[in-house]
Amino acid sequence: MTTTDISQALGIGATESPVRLEYITTDSRQISFPADTLFVALVTPQRNGHDYLEKTYQKGVRHFLVMQKTNPESFPGAFFFETTNTLKALQQIAGYHREQFSIPVIGITGSNGKTIVKEWLAQLLGPEFSICKSPRSYNSQIGVPLSIWQLEEHHTLGIFEAGISTTGEMEALQNIIRPTIGIFTNLGTAHDEGFSSLKEKIAQKWKLFEDCRHIICHTDDKLIHQAAEKNLDRIISWGERADAVYRIIKHEKLGNSTSISLLHNGLETNFTIPFTDQASVENTIHCIVTCLHFGLSPEKLHERIQGLHALHMRLEWKKGLYGSLLLNDSYSYDLTSLEIALNHLQQQAGNGKMMTILSDLPGNPAKDAYADVAALLAQKHISRLIGVGEEMQKFQSLFEADGIETDWFPDTNAFLEKANRKQFEKATILIKGGRVFEFERIASALQQQQHETVLEINLSALAFNLKTYRSLLKPGTKMMVMLKAFGYGSTDAELGRWLQHHGADYLAVAYADEGVTLREGGVELPIMVMNPEPGAFGQIVQHKLEPEIYSFDILQAFDEYLADFGITQYPVHIKLDTGMHRLGFLPEETPKLGALLAKSETLRVISVFTHLVASENQAHDGFTKEQGKIFEETTDLLAGLIPYPFIRHAANTAGILRHPELHFNMVRLGIGLFGVSNADAGSLRLQTVSRLLTTIAQVKKVPAGQSVGYGRQAILKRDSIIATIRIGYADGYRRQLGNGAGLMYLDGYKAPVVGNVCMDMTMLDVTDLPTVHPGDRVEVFGNHIAVGELAKLCDTIPYEIMTGINQRVKRVLLED
Ligand SMILES: *Cc1c(COP(=O)(O)O)cnc(C)c1O
Repeated sequence: MTTTDISQALGIGATESPVRLEYITTDSRQISFPADTLFVALVTPQRNGHDYLEKTYQKGVRHFLVMQKTNPESFPGAFFFETTNTLKALQQIAGYHREQFSIPVIGITGSNGKTIVKEWLAQLLGPEFSICKSPRSYNSQIGVPLSIWQLEEHHTLGIFEAGISTTGEMEALQNIIRPTIGIFTNLGTAHDEGFSSLKEKIAQKWKLFEDCRHIICHTDDKLIHQAAEKNLDRIISWGERADAVYRIIKHEKLGNSTSISLLHNGLETNFTIPFTDQASVENTIHCIVTCLHFGLSPEKLHERIQGLHALHMRLEWKKGLYGSLLLNDSYSYDLTSLEIALNHLQQQAGNGKMMTILSDLPGNPAKDAYADVAALLAQKHISRLIGVGEEMQKFQSLFEADGIETDWFPDTNAFLEKANRKQFEKATILIKGGRVFEFERIASALQQQQHETVLEINLSALAFNLKTYRSLLKPGTKMMVMLKAFGYGSTDAELGRWLQHHGADYLAVAYADEGVTLREGGVELPIMVMNPEPGAFGQIVQHKLEPEIYSFDILQAFDEYLADFGITQYPVHIKLDTGMHRLGFLPEETPKLGALLAKSETLRVISVFTHLVASENQAHDGFTKEQGKIFEETTDLLAGLIPYPFIRHAANTAGILRHPELHFNMVRLGIGLFGVSNADAGSLRLQTVSRLLTTIAQVKKVPAGQSVGYGRQAILKRDSIIATIRIGYADGYRRQLGNGAGLMYLDGYKAPVVGNVCMDMTMLDVTDLPTVHPGDRVEVFGNHIAVGELAKLCDTIPYEIMTGINQRVKRVLLED
């Protein structure tokens, strides 16, 4: 859009001469081409975009959409579009842009499957249309306008998704997308606090279809059927009901695929769908009906459906060879998704070396597409490009002109045979290629040897939980995140960088070497060390770690160390013992402590804190209150003695939730970050971060009367099917879970452990499951079996289960 278009959309005065702005962003950290970018300063409870105007200006951005007064003199040459609400204005601009196009636009909503249906439709209709679609799952009040912004003259079809979490949001999205064809994927039954009932939820989502000429939906669901009945002239329904426009008259699982027959206008058409799980089959049928509606022949469609893949919608980080970190993102490959992936790469890499392995762009890329790729890589400071495919190599000089080192391989096999893997040492590497290049082979060749048992850590869920806990704080209260014990058994440096990016104020670790790992991984946030052993003072100072001082001995030892090196004003944290009786100064020691600190030249007190003993337990709320009172009195006393201000903090996860009066100036979030809480956090709707997954090594029939496993503990009462899976007590799956105590989740079922848990393996009774194959995935804990449930079965707490997962279990990081 040009600046004149934007002024017109907003109904405000224009700049002198129109400037074309190719890009729009709400995130100051993700700007690739500043001169062509409009920066939108949004205000949310977490962030005020206006705080980043200066930084954005310095990057070279000259066009801003703002809602707070700014001093134009501090921004020479910049233009500010001023409005009263930047989110509304952003939506207004997108709506105006949408109006300029009279192409068919598909709008997708529903509880699940929006992104898959969108991506698959783009794949199926790609040969016939020039398609503009939402990047990844950009479907929110902010994501939708950013998606629509991408519409250009050459597009002949738009496919956009719309997601809402509460009443009243869909009107705005409808107004921006204005779909001509609607798809309602499905209606999840999950309780949704944004809506008073399922009926209300569907009514709200249905508003997307206000002006649609056609609405495609699966009417076997009673509520969807009811909604559809009110719009019969526009409905293209499918399902098993007799009144469905596309009626399913046969539905059969055949090995790895599903065969269906659709009856439409008296004509029967058969399709083989390359999936068997219900969700994928439903998503495929939505696509089939939509494509038939667009006039695609059943033969062509049938052929294209065979090429659909289950999508890994998430960005997946894996540790690679020679200390590298790999981001494998091959689910869609166009300039927008490349830019998004590069933003993530930059976040994780910090100041480290970045490389990309890219294939030729799929399809028939626009004329200057490779010039855009080269410019993007240069903007993101990618030091080396490994190009795979013969097309891109023709543009070698473009990349080299931008100062990027390059290596070229005609195809994936050539890369696998010839690439020098040592050059990837310590680099953060994006692997992104078109489907035909099969880059998953490159990703698996470059990653560390994988034991099939993995601990998946969903970084997006983690960020969500961080935001959720932050929303419980008064403005200005700081957030320290506890990353002790390898981030509660998850991962360390990657997590540290992620938290830094998501605005944690402080980190804390148990021992100095954990802090060193974070520093070496590029974490710059202040880091508190809770157990500063005198032998580690050197490491502490060298890496700017901040020790907890909990006794006069350690105070004196550290003071002497600093004095020896002539260091003054070194940041420290004072721990008070108000009832835990573990580490810390006792209340009666306060006067002496205060006097020492007040005159100390070596030490500067950054914070004074205590730890709550039973903040999760209502029965001990009296004790917690007492701890709070002692803490307040003691810190008041210290404040009277120490001549400068310091931070006070006491609350851990349960304290944040249950004792808002003890938040003081900072809180310390631990286990809650992982969506786990030992207080009742039900009202918070946290997301599950960690999933422990493994696979089946063998499946066998064992007759009744035989025993399974060591010690003949389990004698089978019936003819059984036994699956042996690749996890044992050495991985952290406790032996107490043997002999029926533990359950694991497999595709819709929970199977009991049979016999004793072995060191590296466990057996499950899968007799009652329909089909089980070697290689099938098994969830040990995660979305279906909460880590808290597992802990209860072992008579312990989730902390012990989480931190007990052996390091041989590979950590895989995901981003939505
Ligand atoms: C571990 C720890 C926390 C965090 O506890 P959670 O219950 O996991 O929130 C807070 N403060 C201190 C001193 C800790 O050691």
